[in-house]
Amino acid sequence: MLQADAWRIDRQAQEGFMDEAERKRLIEAMAQTVIAHAEELTELDRQIGDGDHGLNMKRGFEAVLETLPATAAQPLPEALKGVGTTLVMKVGGASGPLYGTFFLALAKTMPDTPTAAALAEAFAAAVEAVKARGKSQAGQKTMLDVLVPVAAVLSAGGEGLRSRVRTEALAAAEATRPMKAIRGRASFLGERSIGHLDPGARSSALMIAAVCDAIGG
Ligand code: ADP
Ligand code: MG
Repeated sequence: MLQADAWRIDRQAQEGFMDEAERKRLIEAMAQTVIAHAEELTELDRQIGDGDHGLNMKRGFEAVLETLPATAAQPLPEALKGVGTTLVMKVGGASGPLYGTFFLALAKTMPDTPTAAALAEAFAAAVEAVKARGKSQAGQKTMLDVLVPVAAVLSAGGEGLRSRVRTEALAAAEATRPMKAIRGRASFLGERSIGHLDPGARSSALMIAAVCDAIGG
C-alpha cells in the first residue's frame, strides 16, 4: 500500500468515517471470509470439537449476506444489531450466542461514525459481554484469546493501528495451539486439546483481518 493511502486510512480512523458503502464493504468482507474458510474452520473443529464450526458460521453469514443491502442502509449501531441478531438465530452451537452477543454489545456502544477511540471502547465492551456470556476469559483456548489481545491493541491506539490489529489477531489465533482448553467442547479433551488451533480463535482472527483489509475500500 502507498504511504499516502495508509496515512489517509489512519486519518479516517482518527476523524471517524462510515457511510453505507463502507458498512456494506466491511460486513461483506467478514461474511465472505468466513464462508471461504468454512472447510478450514470445520476441520479445526473436527480435531478438538464436533466438526461443525465452519458449517455453523457459514450458515450464519450466508443469512447475513441475504439481508446485507437492508442492513447496510441502516446507521452503524442498527446494522451491527442486525448482524448480531442474525448470528444468534442462525449460527447455533456455542459460538452463535457468543458472536451474537459480541455484535449486539458492539451495537450498544458504537457511534454511527466511530473514531479509533470510540471503536476501541465499543470493542472492549463487546469483549466483556462475551466473557460474561461464556463465563470465560483469555487463556482458556477460545475466541477470547484473539478478542482480548486485539482489544488491548485497539485501546493502546497509535499509528498503523490497522496493520497492527491484523497482525495481532492472526498471531493470537496461532498462539492458541499450545494451550489446553478450559472452556467449550474442546475442554472435554483436556491435555489432548494441546497442539491444535482453536476454531473460534481462528474464525475471530479471520473476521478481524478481513475488516482490517476492507477498511477504506
Ligand atoms: P460448539 O462447540 O457448540 O460445537 P462451535 O463449534 O460453533 O460450537 O464453536 C466452538 C468455538 O466456540 C470454540 O472454538 C471456542 O472458540 C468458542 N467457545 C466455546 N465455548 C466458549 C466460551 N465459554 N467462551 C468463549 N468462547 C467459547
Ligand atoms: Mg463445534
